[in-house]
Amino acid sequence: MPTAKQQWAMRCFAGARRFVFNKALALQKERHAQGGQYIGYVAMARLLTLWRHSEETPWLKEAPVHPLQHALKDLERAFQNFFAKRAGYPRFCKRGERDSFRYPDPKQIKLDQGNARISLPKLGWLRYRKSRTVLGRVKQVTVCASGGKWFVAIQSEWDVNKPLPQGTTAVGIDLGIVHFAALSDGTFIAPLNSFGRHEDRLRRAQRAMSRKVKYSANWKKAKARVQRLHARIANVRRDFLHKQSTTICNNHALVCIEDLRVRNMSKSAAGSRERPGRNVRAKAGLNKAIRDQGWYEFRRQLMYKAAWQGGMLLAVPPQNTSRTCPCCGHVSPDNRRSQARFACAACRYENNADTVGAMNILARGIRVIACRAEAQSGTAMKQEPTGALEALQFAASADGIPFLSA
Ligand SMILES: [Zn+2]
Repeated sequence: MPTAKQQWAMRCFAGARRFVFNKALALQKERHAQGGQYIGYVAMARLLTLWRHSEETPWLKEAPVHPLQHALKDLERAFQNFFAKRAGYPRFCKRGERDSFRYPDPKQIKLDQGNARISLPKLGWLRYRKSRTVLGRVKQVTVCASGGKWFVAIQSEWDVNKPLPQGTTAVGIDLGIVHFAALSDGTFIAPLNSFGRHEDRLRRAQRAMSRKVKYSANWKKAKARVQRLHARIANVRRDFLHKQSTTICNNHALVCIEDLRVRNMSKSAAGSRERPGRNVRAKAGLNKAIRDQGWYEFRRQLMYKAAWQGGMLLAVPPQNTSRTCPCCGHVSPDNRRSQARFACAACRYENNADTVGAMNILARGIRVIACRAEAQSGTAMKQEPTGALEALQFAASADGIPFLSA
């Protein structure tokens, strides 16, 4: 709940951060085009000092220095990800896109939770609406704008005892489009097409914006509406994913999912000019659905929540999970008569196709764990584990975690 003056200052700081990030990126690009070497963080931070004292950009000195240095660190990480082929080439920041800045030095931050206020360098005391109590020692604080509101994220650190898993069961998850997920116990999670549901409203708002004169007062109002809708969609989606991943991790100690390369699947369906894609429309629809469902984010949440609960997440290779019979092991495309139904051609076993996928994923996860346990103990196992509890026992013996008995 910043005052008008503080809001103005925060917009300036976010602008200064963006300016530094973009200037540093432009410099790297220019240097590369001239055949020069990549500029490391330390050298770039020295340049930042020059910029702050330059007469061309006197306003840079008005912004706190740590968040500006942090912008260079963000760029450094973006380049490291690019060099390691984890991400594309860093892009310039745009105004209104991830407007944020970060204070990395806890010595400069004062948190007064009783009065719901926080003191930050060059901003002073800010009142905030408390969404939860901050536990432990404050490490760093990020201020960001989203949908016309300001948010403060406080990262803290404290010691926790190693948790014991609450659930004792294992579950396989098959992510899909028709269902958001099918579980190996036969239950389904319905999809949340947050984007689809809000899409019409968003499209209307975007059309309204395009009819306004650019940069006029009405255009700005329309743009704010579009941004609010975007923020709303993101919130609904995040809430959905958090609820689902929490439920799963609370109930199961071992969670197995398909190791789908989500990024590959959601790559442009159109292909390149040399190799145009096939079924472009259908694939584009699938890609949109994948993005909408947030599978990657879901997997990320499952991973850390399973660890919080003392359980584990296992990603298994996805080959043939939808065509293998969980009853007799027969592998054939004929097993999958339709998109929804699985019927084994050999033993006549029948079930929902997505449930079968989830069962196969679970079985594969259990095999992976058994192999690991075998490799670690150096002795061959008498038989493959069949149930969830055995799998967890093997997992425990492999990793040395005390196992919780049923
Ligand atoms: Zn069969």
